[in-house]
Amino acid sequence: MRVLVVGAGIAGSVASLSMRQAGHEVTVVDAIAEPYRGGYQIQLDQTARQLLEGLGAGDVVAEVSAASPDIRILRKGRSLGRLRPVGYRLARRGELVSAVSRYAATVVPVRFGCRLASIEQRAEQVVAHFDDGTSDTFDLIVGADGLRSTVRRLVFGADDPFFYRNGYRSVWIDVPADAAQHEGADLLAGPGATAQIFPYPGKEEVLLLTSLSTGEYRSETGRLLPGVRQLLNANGPRFNGLRDYTHIVDPDRIRVTRFTQVRMPRWHAGRVVLIGDAAHCVDPLSGSGVHASLLSARTLADELRTTPRNLEAALCRYEARVRPSVKLLQHATAGLLEGLIGRHLRERLGAIPELLRATANAIPATIPRSRSLNRGNLAGINP
Ligand SMILES: Cc1cc2nc3c(=O)[nH]c(=O)nc-3n(C[C@H](O)[C@H](O)[C@H](O)COP(=O)(O)OP(=O)(O)OC[C@H]3O[C@@H](n4cnc5c(N)ncnc54)[C@H](O)[C@@H]3O)c2cc1C
Repeated sequence: MRVLVVGAGIAGSVASLSMRQAGHEVTVVDAIAEPYRGGYQIQLDQTARQLLEGLGAGDVVAEVSAASPDIRILRKGRSLGRLRPVGYRLARRGELVSAVSRYAATVVPVRFGCRLASIEQRAEQVVAHFDDGTSDTFDLIVGADGLRSTVRRLVFGADDPFFYRNGYRSVWIDVPADAAQHEGADLLAGPGATAQIFPYPGKEEVLLLTSLSTGEYRSETGRLLPGVRQLLNANGPRFNGLRDYTHIVDPDRIRVTRFTQVRMPRWHAGRVVLIGDAAHCVDPLSGSGVHASLLSARTLADELRTTPRNLEAALCRYEARVRPSVKLLQHATAGLLEGLIGRHLRERLGAIPELLRATANAIPATIPRSRSLNRGNLAGINP
């Protein structure tokens, strides 16, 4: 099969590597001129790591990531418990994506600086038109082009009906380690805000990621920072370094994002299918964006291998296999955020361990883990 993968992020890179392994002729395009470096923190769980190892990218991932420390959970300075993220690794998003997409480019042709502009579906083929004026014909187009997916917009319409938003905003601040004066990782729970505090690999900086229930009027950075400080103050002097840094940080170095999940009734139409954030963004807060993207990328490749001559059947099975795990991750993430921030936490505390358990159960889910996509190795995975 001739396959076009749009997007050389984690989802697109893993889908292209997996489909190449299965013998398809794969081309990848990405709108950016080259993978960008840096960025904020991203988490990789054990399943995601093993899968990347199985694709031969284990060394590049190990190089740009570090083991996650245990996470203390605090509310008003009091311990609510500790999470032990066994097998988790932390990386800068840009470093990880860049390493994986550069690795993929050694195996499959990747055209950076090439933006998909439009799609023409025909009965037996699909035509892709690019913004450099070129066109090409494929058997399948895989939309791995992220939250603001062009493929999704071209085939399914405007973003808004598919976006779940709850009015929460996240404030991302990188704090130099000497200013942060902070060891280990913390999760601070409400009221009014929640924060994740994690060291970067190399430990030269600490990520302070705070989520607040804001209301429309408080979306500017200057209006959000008092909420960040209030949460840090409520949790004791250990967070003074981080709090003080919020007074001196250059506002241009602060990123504010809206909590956004993509919830769609269908991920495929004709010869076009969506994977990764384009299909089911969980929101970066979840720490499971990479896991969910690997799950859909790898399962799609797996199902295409199973019935290469019946595309519709493969795409339907792909959706049926991935949807339950993604739905669980999305509901657990939104539920945890809304529960941890809400003002009547005590009443909901019973529900939070449930949500944590649900998330933990969703993580090992159903990513095919075989080292290669030959039939023998997949015997135990596809009943
Ligand atoms: C700028 C950015 C920063 C992020 N930062 C974080 C973070 O700090 N922490 C975190 O947990 N998650 C972050 N995420 C989300 C995280 O990267 C994803 O959840 C996860 O990596 C899975 O992504 P994906 O491969 O589905 O999509 P993405 O990583 O979004 O990749 C999509 C790719 O598609 C390309 N593309 C888009 N439109 C077109 C087009 N028309 N034609 C060709 N190519 C196109 C983009 O250039 C991009 O490389 C970020 C995403 C982005 C885009």
